[in-house]
Amino acid sequence: MPKRVLILGGGDGGTILANRLVKKLPASQVEVEVIDKSDVHWYQPGFLFIATGEAEKEDISRRRPGLFRKGIKFTKGEVMKIDLDDRTVDLADGTKKKYDYLVIATGSTLNPDEIPGFEQGVDHFWNYEAAMKLREKLFSIKEGKVIVGIGGLLYKCPVAPLEIAFLAEELFRKRGVRDKIEMKYVSPIDRAYAPHLLNRVIEEEMEKRGIEVVTFFSVDSVDPERKVVNSLEGDSLDYDLLILTPPQQGVKAVRDSGIGDDEGWIPVDKHFLNIEGYDDAFAIGDATALPTPKTGVIAHFQAATLAHNLAVEISGQGTKEIFDGQSFCVIETGMGKASAQVSSYFYDVPPGLIPNWVLHAMKLAMNKMYWRCILTGMI
Ligand SMILES: Cc1cc2nc3c(=O)[nH]c(=O)nc-3n(C[C@H](O)[C@H](O)[C@H](O)COP(=O)(O)OP(=O)(O)OC[C@H]3O[C@@H](n4cnc5c(N)ncnc54)[C@H](O)[C@@H]3O)c2cc1C
Repeated sequence: MPKRVLILGGGDGGTILANRLVKKLPASQVEVEVIDKSDVHWYQPGFLFIATGEAEKEDISRRRPGLFRKGIKFTKGEVMKIDLDDRTVDLADGTKKKYDYLVIATGSTLNPDEIPGFEQGVDHFWNYEAAMKLREKLFSIKEGKVIVGIGGLLYKCPVAPLEIAFLAEELFRKRGVRDKIEMKYVSPIDRAYAPHLLNRVIEEEMEKRGIEVVTFFSVDSVDPERKVVNSLEGDSLDYDLLILTPPQQGVKAVRDSGIGDDEGWIPVDKHFLNIEGYDDAFAIGDATALPTPKTGVIAHFQAATLAHNLAVEISGQGTKEIFDGQSFCVIETGMGKASAQVSSYFYDVPPGLIPNWVLHAMKLAMNKMYWRCILTGMI
């Protein structure tokens, strides 16, 4: 009998894992089913380019069934409850799914209520609708104060707020309104970006571009009527346009199943990705409580490691590998240039790279290659 691998969530991690696994094992050995509540897959880094008017919906979204290799069963359904001891998963329509191996790849969900006034007073680009709303504002603002920065502390893609600051600045120049717009970047720590070496590059670039870095500003609340953002440290700033990272947490199904920590992030072994206390249940991507950045690159690398290890486990052949925390992230700095960050569990971030056109070209190429990458499981 083939082993039944059930994957919850068909985003970056779940899709790569499914496609890699069926490539490694024949149908006589494995049966793979992916469950996702939506049949549309979004290329989320593309939301940045939606906001700046450089991409459209059709560039960054695909119907989900077409992204899976032959042999993978896709079920559209919302996961409500996961029982790791009973090895069952309940869907919203009342279906109960059983498994031999479970992989939770449900990512994260936005939790704007954590910051009073966020919903009414803040713009962001963490989903398509919000990115379109922001595009409208970036293209219509003629003067005033624009504040960009970190709202919720744990968010997908650590460099995304820096990128929108640089790209918005470039857009205001192109629109001929830059000299009438004051730009600030708010950060809860003593610098714009946590890793020191890359921060040097980022802050140099911000200085050149006239973006003032406001440090020790931990966003506490927003007053949408008065257009004021307040910090825990007791400071307040006026704004005309406020772009912040939305607070995020693990998805409701994980929180309701008592699997994650207080915020619904799932504790897993940092190398083998099994959920603590279980050897038949795993979590990958944004859903985990690992200290790695919540990025598609990490979800890809974890999916590749886990596909290999599940194939070894099921076939009884080969040697398992470890996930080493490897990450590679390209940071758009605008003006046709980008920088990058590389890290892993075993080495520190190397010196930040001076923004250059090669990295920018790589990011644009990735925007196009993404769909092929996840279908083939290539990295
Ligand atoms: C604005 C922005 C910019 C980004 N830029 C970059 C970048 O430049 N580089 C990079 O590497 N990463 C970037 N990321 C991050 C990257 O998109 C995520 O880290 C990545 O998608 C995580 O993959 P995942 O599989 O863990 O989760 P996701 O891809 O989010 O997939 C989770 C899936 O689970 C499904 N799901 C959730 N709950 C349920 C449920 N109860 N039942 C059924 N299905 C459910 C969802 O519908 C979704 O399809 C960016 C993200 C954003 C928002």
